[in-house]
Amino acid sequence: MISKKMRPFLENNSAIRMMFEEGKKMAELYGADKVYDFSLGNPNVPAPQKVGEAIKEILDEEDPLFVHGYMSNAGYPQVREAIAENLNQRFGTSFAGRNLIMTVGAGSGLNVALKTVLDPGDEVLTFAPYFLEYRAYVTNYDGVLVTVEPDTETFQVNLEAFRAKINEKTKAVIINNPNNPTGVVYSEETICALAAVLNEKQAAYGHEIYLISDEPYRELVFDGAAVPFVTKYYDNTMVVYSYSKSLSLPGERIGYLLIPDEVSESAATIDAATIANRISGCVNAPSLIQLAVGRCVDCQADLDFYDRNRKTLYEGLTSMGFDCVRPQGAFYLWMKVPAGKQAKDKASSDGCSRETAAAAGMTEAADRKELLAAEAEFVQAAKRYHILAVPGSSFACPGYVRLAYCVSYETIVNALPEFRKLAADYGLSV
Ligand code: PLP
Repeated sequence: MISKKMRPFLENNSAIRMMFEEGKKMAELYGADKVYDFSLGNPNVPAPQKVGEAIKEILDEEDPLFVHGYMSNAGYPQVREAIAENLNQRFGTSFAGRNLIMTVGAGSGLNVALKTVLDPGDEVLTFAPYFLEYRAYVTNYDGVLVTVEPDTETFQVNLEAFRAKINEKTKAVIINNPNNPTGVVYSEETICALAAVLNEKQAAYGHEIYLISDEPYRELVFDGAAVPFVTKYYDNTMVVYSYSKSLSLPGERIGYLLIPDEVSESAATIDAATIANRISGCVNAPSLIQLAVGRCVDCQADLDFYDRNRKTLYEGLTSMGFDCVRPQGAFYLWMKVPAGKQAKDKASSDGCSRETAAAAGMTEAADRKELLAAEAEFVQAAKRYHILAVPGSSFACPGYVRLAYCVSYETIVNALPEFRKLAADYGLSV
C-alpha cells in the first residue's frame, strides 16, 4: 500500500509537469511550430561548447576507473576548490573547497540543507510566489512549510508579513533570488532588512534560524541588476546553486551546497550535510559532469539570447495591455490574469455594463475562489490559442500566470499574434 505521506502527491502531481506533457501532445496534434509552450523552465540554449569539450578531454585524458568511480561524498576536492576560488574572485568572499558539497542539482542541494537542519515539526518560511517543490522538500523531513504572503506591488520580500509569521518554531527561511516565477531580483535593501529581522529573532528565540538561498538563476540577470551574495549579510546562510539553468545542464543533475565558516558549528554542519548527501541515496554528485563543471567555472550563460526573448515578450505583452512584472532575472515573466473576461461575460449575461460589474466587485476577483476560477479560465482561454502558461496557484499565488521564456525566439515572435487575440477576448486595449 502506498504510504499516507505519498498519497497527496499522487493527487496533486505537478501542474507544470502535466502541462509540459500536454504541450507535447498538442505539438503532435497541431505541429510543434503551432504550439507556444511557455510551461517548463528547460533552457533552449545549448550548453557552452566548452562543457562538451571538457567532457571529451576528461574521457580522453583521465583513467576511466577514476572518472567513473566513487569519490568523497562531498565531491572532488579539486572541483570544490575551483568553484570556491571562482566565487571568491567574483564576490570578494573567502571560501575554501571544504565549504562546498557537490549535489545532484539544486533540488538535491535543498534537500540536503533541509535534512541537515530540520527536526520534525520545525517550520520553514518561504515567500509566495515560490517554487512549489519547496513544500515537498520540507515535508520530506517532517518540517512544516509556512508561506509568507506576497507584496504584489513589488514582489520583493513582504517584511511585514514575514515578521508576523516568524516564530519560535521557525528553523529556516528559503529565499530564491533571482526569483522563479516572478523574475524579480531581491535588492540589497531587501536582503539587509531580511537579515536584520533574522538576527533579531535568533537572539530573541535563542536558536539558529538558517537562511537557505536558492540561486539556480544567479547569473541570469538583465539591465545591470545585481544579486547580493547573501552570505555577506547574514552568518547562518547556506547557498544552494545549480548548473541546470546557467549552463543549460538540467538533465545532468549538478549543483552544490555552500556552507560558509560563519555558519554556527560550521565544521559539524558541513559534516552533517555531507552525510545527508550520502544517506539521501545520492551518495555523491555525478562524476563526469562534476569534473566537467570544475573545468568550466568561468563559462557564462548566453544572456543575449534570454534578454532578446525577455524584451520581445515583455514589450509585446504590455503593449497589448497585459499587466506584467518587468523581469530582471531568471527567464520567467509573471503576468496578472486580466480581470476583463469573467466580469464582461457576467455583465453581458446580466445585461449590465462592465463598470457595474466592477462596482459589484467582479472585475478584481475578490477572494481566492474567484481568483482561482479567473486564473483557470485564463489558462484555458490561452490554450485555445495553443499558448501554455502555468497558473499562479502552482506557485501559491493565484491570479497570475508564469511564462517561461527560455524558448526559441521564433516561439515568442509567433506567439505574439495569438496573445493579441487573447487580449482582444479580454477586452484589453489592442
Ligand atoms: N529552485 C528553483 C527556484 C528552480 O526553479 C528549480 C528548477 O526549476 C530548482 C530549484 C531545481 O533545480 P535543479 O534542476 O538544479 O534541481
